[in-house]
Order: sequence, then C-alpha cells, then structure tokens
Amino acid sequence: MKPEALLHPTEKGLYCPPGDFYIDPVRPVGRALITHGHADHARAGHAHVMATRETLDIMGIRYGKDFAGATQEAAYGEVVTINGVTVSWHPAGHVLGSAQIAVESDGTRIVASGDYKRRSDPTCTGFDVVPCDVFITEATFGLPVFTHPDDAGEIGRLMESLKRFPERAHLVGAYALGKAQRVIALIRQAGYTETIFIHGAMDKLCSYYSDRGIDLGPLAPATIEKGAKDQFAGKVIVGPPSAFADRWARRFPDPVACFASGWMRVRQRARQRGVELPLIISDHSDWDELTQTIRDTGASEVWVTHGREEALVRWCELHQIRARPLNLVGYEDEAE
Ligand SMILES: [Zn+2]
Ligand SMILES: [Zn+2]
Repeated sequence: MKPEALLHPTEKGLYCPPGDFYIDPVRPVGRALITHGHADHARAGHAHVMATRETLDIMGIRYGKDFAGATQEAAYGEVVTINGVTVSWHPAGHVLGSAQIAVESDGTRIVASGDYKRRSDPTCTGFDVVPCDVFITEATFGLPVFTHPDDAGEIGRLMESLKRFPERAHLVGAYALGKAQRVIALIRQAGYTETIFIHGAMDKLCSYYSDRGIDLGPLAPATIEKGAKDQFAGKVIVGPPSAFADRWARRFPDPVACFASGWMRVRQRARQRGVELPLIISDHSDWDELTQTIRDTGASEVWVTHGREEALVRWCELHQIRARPLNLVGYEDEAE
C-alpha cells in the first residue's frame, strides 16, 4: 500500500481512510486516536477517543468527563485492529501518557510520533524507537542551533540562585501539563526537599501525577495571606507562564523570574518576557535528537508536521531520505 493511502493530511487532521480514524484531529471527528494531552493535540468533542489511560484522564481533568462520546483505553505495546488496520501504541517520552501511534496495513508501517523527546524524564516513560517505513515527526526545535543543555545543569542554576538570593522568591514559569511536574521532579532530584508552592491552575494535574506514582514531594498552594509576603522569601513557586504577567506574580517578595522552556535558548525571547533566570528545559527533541531519531527508525521517508519543517526536510534529503512537510494547521507549541 502507498503510504499516502494509509495516512494523509486533511483539514481535520491526519486521516486513515481504510481505518476511518484520525490522529490528533484539530476538529471534532467520529474516531480520534490521541497521542497526548496537550491542548493542540487533544481536543474535546470527538465521538470516540482512543488514547492511553493517562491521556484520557488528563483530557477529563482539562475538559470535564464528557469530553468525548465514548473512550477506549490503549496501553503501551498493545496492538489493536481498527477496520482491518493494525494500530499499536508506544511511549513518546514527551509528557505522562504520551504515545507514538504506529499504523500498519499490507506491510507498510507509518509511525506518528506526536511530540517526543529522547532524554530521560522522571515523570514519564522513555521514548521507544519503532522501526517503520514512514516516520512522522514534529520539528519544534528543528534547526541545528537548537541543542538543549543537560537538565540537571539548568536546575543547578536555579539551586545556585536560591542560595545566592535567600530573601527573594523564585518564580518558575512552566506549562501546566508536563513541564511543571518535570521541573518539580528535577528539583527533587537535585536534593531539594522543602515545600514547593504551586499556582492553582496546576493543582489538579500535579495531584494526578502524584496519584500515578510520580514523586513530586511536598507541594502547597501559592496563596498569600495578608501581610505574610515574607513567607515566600527564598521559596520556589511554580506557575503557568501566563500568570507571570498579572498581579499574582507581583505579590511575592522581590521575585526572580525564571522560565523553563526550550525557547530560553533564544536570549531575545527571554529578554522580551522579562525573564531574569532562563532555564533551557524542553519536552521536545533538539536538533540532534530529531535527526538521530529519524536515523534510528530506519524510515525511508519522513513527514514533518509542525515547527521548523524546511531545515529538517532538507537534512533528510541530504541523507537520501525522502521527506516532505505535511503543512498541518492547528498545532502550536503549548508544551514549550
Ligand atoms: Zn505539539
Ligand atoms: Zn505536546
């Protein structure tokens, strides 16, 4: 079977005609297979949703329990047949529950990897290489200038700052799903055992991660009682980046604005956001991880979904791998 007959882009998203299902559709459809819980991939309103237990739970937390007409749980390693098309689920290493979805028919296997990263993350299962004919990859950081440094080193800079400025609150901006929990887990790995304060917007997701056995240590709501501003001196407060622009952030004592994102590699972005301590921590692959992964899968053809498509397509061509951008709309980089 020609790969395009098995899976191809439509305006609703990646569609499999023989299986009659979509992967991460951007509009409501009859049957959706969802790679992970970020809002640009997991949307409410599909008639039937198949995803990992964690992704289904996360969608329930974000959209309410009626987010889909019906749901079906998929487990890593599980192989199911949908209208004669074989589908299997594999860890993507991006956020808790994130999966790559392999679609196979008549000896052709396409892997839709969703968003993924290769380095170890204490909050989710590590990426599995799935050999395939066509590998569908993101390209969020698809330029050679993007190389993510070691996470422990970045967290070390935060720990150093806490020691140097014991009178200042350290506000860490991190997206509510995945990044926030990972930053907290990395801080724990660095040996920090004190209570970490979290913004109300990430309370439910942090509780969920803890329920799934991911040790985040002692957490408490970052609410200030009147006249008790100093209670946050020398403390770590984690909140969604959007909260840092509003009054919430100004209530803390002389805050050090930190932001955990792969984009912090770009100094200008850090400056524009008023970030004093940029932490380059990403849940996406950097350039080396993207190209290494393409090699590892052994794919003879690569389709690029979102991000910096051109550079990655060019790299593939230079390495005798057929490649093309899919020009899918509707994906942004919420996770970053
Ligand atoms: Zn994405
Ligand atoms: Zn994502």
